[in-house]
Amino acid sequence: MTDAPRPAPAWPDFGEPALVPLEPPIVMMVDDEPLMTELIQTHLEDAGYANFVACNEPLEAMKLMQRRRPGLVLLDLMMPELDGFAILAAMRADEALRYTPVIVLTAAADARTKLRALELGATEFLAKPVDPSELVLRVRNTLAFKLYQDRLATIDPVTGLSNRHTFSQYLEGVLVRAGARKAMVGLLHIDCDFKQAREALGPSAADAIARCIARRLNAALGHLAESAVGPAALDHSGVARLGEQEFAVLLRPLEHADGAASVAKDLLQRLAEPIDVDGHQIVIGPAVGIALYPTDGQQVGTLQKSADLATAKARRQGKGSLAFFSAELDARSMERLTLTQQLRRGLERGEFRLHYQPKLDLRSGAVTGAEALIRWQHPERGLLYPGTFIGLAEESGLIVELGDWVVAEACAQSARWRQAGLGDIRIAVNVSKLQFDGGHVLAVLREQVARHGLQPGQLVVEITESLLVSDADAALDLLAQIQALGVQLSIDDFGTGYSSLSYLKRFPVDELKIDRSFIVDIPARPEDLAIVRTVVALGHSLDMTVVAEGVEQPGQLAALRDAGCDHYQGFLFSPAVPPDEFADLARATAARIAAGS
Ligand code: C2E
Ligand code: MG
Ligand code: MG
Repeated sequence: MTDAPRPAPAWPDFGEPALVPLEPPIVMMVDDEPLMTELIQTHLEDAGYANFVACNEPLEAMKLMQRRRPGLVLLDLMMPELDGFAILAAMRADEALRYTPVIVLTAAADARTKLRALELGATEFLAKPVDPSELVLRVRNTLAFKLYQDRLATIDPVTGLSNRHTFSQYLEGVLVRAGARKAMVGLLHIDCDFKQAREALGPSAADAIARCIARRLNAALGHLAESAVGPAALDHSGVARLGEQEFAVLLRPLEHADGAASVAKDLLQRLAEPIDVDGHQIVIGPAVGIALYPTDGQQVGTLQKSADLATAKARRQGKGSLAFFSAELDARSMERLTLTQQLRRGLERGEFRLHYQPKLDLRSGAVTGAEALIRWQHPERGLLYPGTFIGLAEESGLIVELGDWVVAEACAQSARWRQAGLGDIRIAVNVSKLQFDGGHVLAVLREQVARHGLQPGQLVVEITESLLVSDADAALDLLAQIQALGVQLSIDDFGTGYSSLSYLKRFPVDELKIDRSFIVDIPARPEDLAIVRTVVALGHSLDMTVVAEGVEQPGQLAALRDAGCDHYQGFLFSPAVPPDEFADLARATAARIAAGS
């Protein structure tokens, strides 16, 4: 044991399971006679109490107790220097030792001494000389009672969740660790309104509602199986019941404030489901306030106060609301929420457009393809670029529907251009990882390719490296099926993901698109030029076409031509433009080439 003060309880570390095995309590004996403590230790060890600490220096007793925090103290009353009464009085005046049970050792007959010890808060008496079986019995009963008391003091008996006191202690430990690691922590206060149900159906109905809320919170966080709520949840301190209708959830560590908002949204959704109490469908009106460590409070008290204020703000916004303590985050989360709703509406109202960026053959200068890039004609905010909404569409799952529209529209455009005699233009569409879940995109591609009569090679799907890395076997199977439809595969932003060369060989890839970041500084930066040359050589050796993205300067074009790159796209020739403009550009370019200029 070191002399460092023990931090509050031995709570789990970040990321570790919440259940902590309880350490067996320490039994400490204070007696000036070493022979006596040795004897008692032997008796107790025989009975299985191995965690024994002896103190033969009465003057040191308080210090030792404060350090070791015994679960039980055996105290001799008759000692020189400092007697047991003085120690007992000091213990009862000490914040940390006030409730530690004390068994006093005293001569059996001495009634006055017993009375005085009782007045000072002794828990039990043990007659001297000590009878071993009586000793073990007293120790066992006292410890059992202590455990029961501790339990009452730390958990909410109705839900089995940590109570306010335990949660605050736990939070303190979490904040210390988060501070050392410079990590962010999210504190969610959840206010549930079931006052009316309590008034109408009585307190046991209110308890049933509280238990259901606890189960849903636990289930949402995946900390505990639904059935495990109850006594087993003693040490499950990431979720707590702070008051009759008030709950708390701790998110640690938190990567980003948006993460707290999405957990809060999920909790609100789960809690909005009616709760069945004896056949009555109770709807509670939850509101969630979010405070973040360290920005909204660095101490337990201030952080909790911030979370309370945020909850009050959410309450004012109405049932089912969430609010951040920080006004700035609040505005941001509101904006994101609004934009997500508008995204859904925009999809219904047909506010999305595809613009097409020409892809050119580096040697002939002919327009050979078009990358379809999505734009949102927002009714109030004007034309929006994907950077402002693709992330939200992915988070909300709307990307799947949006992506379906992109595939259908690009295939329709391909057919229109073909009818208009525009020649052989390959159209590329960007496809998000989420669209691959459950093979969704395959069905859509199959349907649209057939409907619009696309020939093999006329449609290209651009994916990112991350798709291949995450679940390689599933991806491999799916990509092979996509390729079997005559659709080509292109790896977008190549060089920015975590990919290895071995996977490239395994996947049926037709094209590599070198990321713009490697193009921007060529030819001036020799390292980048070396990377470009390497990617070109790699692509060609695997029989792939290599495309450079984001070409803006004639110097870059020359260097790419020199490196043997096949195609390019970039502002140098044209940004993405509406389909009619694209057709004009392609025709004009073809005419210029035909005229030999
Ligand atoms: P991306 O697929 O890598 O597309 C290239 C981006 O670079 C486009 O931005 C394009 O306008 C821009 N760009 C092209 N040439 C140049 C250039 O010379 N210089 C510079 N600075 N930029 C250039 P955009 O349209 O804002 O699209 C951004 C990203 O959004 C795309 O990156 C793609 O990942 C995603 N995206 C676009 N449309 C869709 C879509 O329909 N579905 C999905 N899932 N993602 C899309
Ligand atoms: Mg792309
Ligand atoms: Mg790209």
